[in-house]
Amino acid sequence: MSLHKHHVRQDEMVLDPAFDGGVGTIPKHRLPRGTQDARAALRFVQDELMLDGNARQNLATFVTTWMEPEAAMLIQASLEKNIIDKDEYPQSAEIERRCVNILANLWRAPEPTGGADAVGCSTTGSSEAAMLAGMALKWRWRARREAAGQDAGKPNLVMGANVQVCWEKFARYWDVEARLVPLEGATHLTAQQAAAACDENTIGVVAVLGSTFDGSYEPVAEIAAALDKLAADTGVDVPLHVDAASGGFIAPFLDPQLPWDFRLDRVKSINSSGHKYGLVYPGVGWVLWRSEDDLPKDLIFSVDYLGGSMPTFALNFSRPAAQVIAQYYVLVRYGFEGYRRIQQRSRDIARFIAAGVEKTGRFSLLSRGDELPVLAFKLGAPESYSVYDVSHELRSFGWIVPAYPMPEGMEDVDVLRVVVRNGFTFDLAEAFLADLAKSMERLAGRARASVAFHH
Ligand SMILES: *Cc1c(COP(=O)(O)O)cnc(C)c1O
Repeated sequence: MSLHKHHVRQDEMVLDPAFDGGVGTIPKHRLPRGTQDARAALRFVQDELMLDGNARQNLATFVTTWMEPEAAMLIQASLEKNIIDKDEYPQSAEIERRCVNILANLWRAPEPTGGADAVGCSTTGSSEAAMLAGMALKWRWRARREAAGQDAGKPNLVMGANVQVCWEKFARYWDVEARLVPLEGATHLTAQQAAAACDENTIGVVAVLGSTFDGSYEPVAEIAAALDKLAADTGVDVPLHVDAASGGFIAPFLDPQLPWDFRLDRVKSINSSGHKYGLVYPGVGWVLWRSEDDLPKDLIFSVDYLGGSMPTFALNFSRPAAQVIAQYYVLVRYGFEGYRRIQQRSRDIARFIAAGVEKTGRFSLLSRGDELPVLAFKLGAPESYSVYDVSHELRSFGWIVPAYPMPEGMEDVDVLRVVVRNGFTFDLAEAFLADLAKSMERLAGRARASVAFHH
């Protein structure tokens, strides 16, 4: 039978005849009527996925795209485990506890919570962690207001216009005003702006350790100090949450002297993405609170656990345990020194690329890998092409480098951003810089051709 004799409808796909011995089609958007041979189905889905990009050339994402085969084995071996089944999988629950305690220690939670009973949990990622942390802020603020006999109807959350979209989601879903402070004099929130935006209805300030726009750290300690002063001067006492989605696994290893964490009394909660610089495949995140007092009791539910019950705080009920187990593997496998080496290497490579980008003479850098291993750069002078053209040109070499405008306050600045992750090498960095040079030549050549044509 030949393929060509069959008319294939637009909403159907042809199954590879080499595997099913004949021509079959399956509908794209409906459940197929019959069953497929397992191998044919596998090949079919695999062939579809082939069209996805090459993760190693994706310089856009912060999310882990490479793990050791041993980690993949462990994930494979724990695919059936459901993290909520604490009764059936008590050891997975124990492993989650250990991860929380390890992070509490890394983020300098005060003892005794920095010991074996830190307050926190795993999540699907930083977005779920943001929802949980945001809820805790809202609940605590409301309790304070109600206890004082004050109106608790108009909560707001203060953050820079550069926050990740999950915070705007939190605000919308939980009916909180997102008080987004436009950028002014920096690529992120400043201490003075943060304090100035707060009032008695502010449930908290979110400081970002590692802005997604350019990888810069917000000055968490300065923000904390400004909020301390605000409290002393006016009585408006606003808790600080740190969104350390990326920085939570960078700063402890590369910037140990930088106080951004529970060393600052004002920091009440911290989130981080295990699947970013935590070095685990997607989806795992973490959220920790300074103490039990910072996590309202009525947000906690209990699930059965070895005949007793165990407290949980999560949006989902069922969720894979595999990523949490993989997180534990990576923590045990690399230890402090391993993480430090890996993150330092990413930072070195980001700085190397930054220097190369600068050497082209065409760009001006907003960040150069000195905080997150990330660099953001804009065109140094107006050209006949834009950063969007550069991004498009790089795509023809397989590189995915996003271009976008900066947030409110800097919205007239368009940038390109490169995120360096574990698995990216100096060799790849050199290849990237060579392709960037070729892209710039092509764009300049086209600009010259177009000028010549018009004359
Ligand atoms: C990635 C990111 C998030 C969202 O994290 P997910 O783990 O992808 O849900 C939140 N905040 C910041 C600063 C981020 O970089």
